[in-house]
Amino acid sequence: MVLESGWNLDSSYSRLPEVFFAEAIPEKAISPKVILVNNGLAQSLGLNVEELNPETLSGNEIPDGSLPIAQAYAGHQFGNFTMLGDGRAILLGEQITPSGERIDIGLKGSGPTAFSRGGDGLAALGPMLREYIISEAMYALGIPTSRSLSVTLTGNDVHREAALPGAVLVRTASSYLRVGTFQYAAARQVTEDLMMLADYAIERHYPDVASEENRYELLLRNVIERQAALIAKWQLVGFIHGVMNTDNMTISGETIDYGPCAFMDVYDPATVFSSIDVNGRYKYGNQPGIASWNLARFAEALLPLLDESQDAAIQIAEKQLAQFGKVFEREWLNGMRAKLGLLDEKPEDEALSKELLLIMKDKKADYTNTFRALTDASAEQPSWFAEDAFNEWKNKWEVRRGQQTESIEESNEVMRLSNPAVIPRNHRVEEAIEAAENGDFSVLHKLNQVLTEPYSNSKEQIPYTAPSTASVPYQTYCG
Ligand code: AMP
Ligand code: MG
Ligand code: MG
Repeated sequence: MVLESGWNLDSSYSRLPEVFFAEAIPEKAISPKVILVNNGLAQSLGLNVEELNPETLSGNEIPDGSLPIAQAYAGHQFGNFTMLGDGRAILLGEQITPSGERIDIGLKGSGPTAFSRGGDGLAALGPMLREYIISEAMYALGIPTSRSLSVTLTGNDVHREAALPGAVLVRTASSYLRVGTFQYAAARQVTEDLMMLADYAIERHYPDVASEENRYELLLRNVIERQAALIAKWQLVGFIHGVMNTDNMTISGETIDYGPCAFMDVYDPATVFSSIDVNGRYKYGNQPGIASWNLARFAEALLPLLDESQDAAIQIAEKQLAQFGKVFEREWLNGMRAKLGLLDEKPEDEALSKELLLIMKDKKADYTNTFRALTDASAEQPSWFAEDAFNEWKNKWEVRRGQQTESIEESNEVMRLSNPAVIPRNHRVEEAIEAAENGDFSVLHKLNQVLTEPYSNSKEQIPYTAPSTASVPYQTYCG
């Protein structure tokens, strides 16, 4: 039933066996103050403005129809299997939107749950602003992602290396079902529960396969395809997730858990930002391989459902897992073609793309701005565009572009729509967070506004396109 407030919550996840969740109550925020509200998202969720108040957005008031829970899951964290669960997130329920979509909506940083494992369940303002900025920037870039509805100061302190202002993020996703949710079910070795989870995931994300006899194999296939397509999109914009643990990988194919993530400036496959990723497990160039490894963990969890015979189940899993590389390569290459304004397919396109990347690596080129400079002659041109290595490549590229039936204008337009002018540059994100921590929210509002139209290349965006001039390497931390 849609309430006047706009809330229209269901809790289908809570109808799964009880082992999949624990009831949870948000901690009281002593003086909640809303800092950021996403009006566009609120509207698409069907929420009325009066619901976007400090009491609701801090978790002090639970919306009518909500059954607040923390979800159970497990996961490989940097390769080590652990039983986890929402330690600082509370799912309020699934909002049924005016267009009939079912969207998970919940709080992050609202206090401990049954799965907090000694953690405080809280979040500091900085990391929650970071998640808001980057998740919304990803959405604007056209990349499947969880979204951010609001950030609210709680008025409580959070104790990290120092006392920091606490905040609650309200976030949404098409669901928070993860590879780790399946690992949790598989680890408990109750096949009936695992089957219920799989049927639930199919119903929510892949309803077309629900009545197929081999629906669990098709679930695996679909998740592999969506994740391969997602990781290709990350690579194409230079997004580095930073904690690609299996509990941070969704069944829907959306990006979730914006912790130590950041966008790459200088093109280098070895780029790592996260301070805790000391071995570079989750560096830019490893992301496809890690996704494939994570999906193998998903396939393992599904084995009991794939076939009664374990040998047969393994064969099915391996056949599907072999798809990842093919789908990823296809999606990546198609994305690269668009970035280079190539509207048809030729066998030499892969070599042409990779040759450019080699030059970029050699020249320590800014990833985003190089493609932007190729797209728009009026944008600042890197000095190495004058060098022979680049001009040889450019000649090949121009010959290749001239071979297609589409006009150069059409080709240019595809490039314009495939090469963002603005991304959330690390120093800009830090600057906005720092100003907000000091009570000035204008820098943050301006940044978020600029990031909503990453392809528009407007004049006001120009200051946001410059890479950082800092000489120390950028580092991110887990909030
Ligand atoms: P992440 O690396 O963000 O995916 O988090 C891994 C696990 O740690 C998840 O189960 C989180 O819920 C949990 N966690 C992270 N921070 C906290 C915290 N401050 N208190 C309790 N649990 C936390
Ligand atoms: Mg996580
Ligand atoms: Mg996290």
